[in-house]
Amino acid sequence: MAIEFAFSADQEAFRSAVRSFLEKEVAPIVPEMDEREEFPRATVAKMQAEGYFGVPVPEEYGGLGLGKVGYCILLEELGKVDASHGTIVGAHTSLGTTPLLYYGTEEQKRRWLAPAAKGEKLLAFSLTEPGSGSDSGAVHTAAERSGDDWVVTGDKIYVTNGREADTVVLMAGNDVKRGPNGGVTAFLVDTNLPGFKIGRCEKKMGLHGTSTAELVLDHVTLGPERVLGEVGKGFPVAMTALDVGRVSLGAASLGGIEAATSQALEFAKNRTQFGLPISEYEVIQFKLADMAMKAEALRYLVYHAAEHQDRLGTDPARWTRLERAQKTRESAIVKCLASEWAGEVIDEALQIHGGLGYIRGTPIERAYRDARISEIFEGTNEIQRLVISRDLLSRGL
Ligand SMILES: Cc1cc2nc3c(=O)[nH]c(=O)nc-3n(C[C@H](O)[C@H](O)[C@H](O)COP(=O)(O)OP(=O)(O)OC[C@H]3O[C@@H](n4cnc5c(N)ncnc54)[C@H](O)[C@@H]3O)c2cc1C
Repeated sequence: MAIEFAFSADQEAFRSAVRSFLEKEVAPIVPEMDEREEFPRATVAKMQAEGYFGVPVPEEYGGLGLGKVGYCILLEELGKVDASHGTIVGAHTSLGTTPLLYYGTEEQKRRWLAPAAKGEKLLAFSLTEPGSGSDSGAVHTAAERSGDDWVVTGDKIYVTNGREADTVVLMAGNDVKRGPNGGVTAFLVDTNLPGFKIGRCEKKMGLHGTSTAELVLDHVTLGPERVLGEVGKGFPVAMTALDVGRVSLGAASLGGIEAATSQALEFAKNRTQFGLPISEYEVIQFKLADMAMKAEALRYLVYHAAEHQDRLGTDPARWTRLERAQKTRESAIVKCLASEWAGEVIDEALQIHGGLGYIRGTPIERAYRDARISEIFEGTNEIQRLVISRDLLSRGL
């Protein structure tokens, strides 16, 4: 078990480049994006041009080759500035590029991964259905054989980037009765294929810059080149992507915690009540101390898990059973703790802002609305606790 960790000079340089970019290009448009509930096309295009949609993807496939640690640096910085942009990048990268990088054939990597990593195409990931949320292996969307092809019909919901994506990594049931054990297959579905339609786009409490779309598939014909991984082995493909997603979501939550803490600190030093800055009152000081403790602890946890994923590499066939179990437990712990701590810290930071924290348009009010979903998506925190406790019962601490 590796405990020591330090960022390299290149990683620090990447962080500072990302930070300057986000402050200059993204931060100014966020309030209006949130108010208008619009997908931020222009800033997404600028981020794509910078290579920020392919950070962990190796350079030979068009990415920046900075691994999971580099990717978490990006997500942490995004988490400080805007959760919507972070979620758009996360759905594309963790959930879209990971399955292609880890399970794709060379041809699939050239055709789908490289343009996605270069920022020429946008990806989405679709597992959830109306009847299948936490029980994600109970996929009802049916994939039926027709000669060498597959014909897919069904209804998928809550797909981040679903309205804008060029290609969706989509889970369908090749044998619905078998469920996750041999009955689910991952497909690469281009959104311009006949029979593919975008359905309802949800109005949400937060993440106003993201689309959350229903996808309707009516006899969409897919050639064998669109099967990602093996037939019937789509569930491990989805879970591998979610392991990456949960750690990067932890990084984004860490960024949210750091931003909320800084905002609360600044406000507390400048807001005077009863003749003193409120930062002089111990009650406020202790709230700030609790925030700092969570940020500090989480920083180690997130980058430890990211570095571990980098060490394991991107070929699932080489992982031992123990390595898989460790990775999955770590990802669940990071996701669960980070999202709950982000909720607590942002809530306390809002409290420190008093009435101003409740006024529409303040950064802390937006952060409060944006953060809540992190306890629900990429597997609810109840499911994370199931994952952690099952592994504990089987392997011990
Ligand atoms: C904004 C947004 C974006 C999303 N993006 C995507 C995406 O890009 N792709 C995608 O595929 N999905 C996406 N989702 C779906 C998301 O992952 C699911 O909403 C989530 O996994 C929960 O599923 P559910 O909503 O059906 O809740 P349910 O599974 O119905 O759960 C309801 C409640 O029951 C609890 N529960 C369920 N089973 C158990 C159990 N066994 N033990 C204890 N408690 C349990 C849950 O924790 C929860 O509290 C998104 C959702 C939202 C809201």
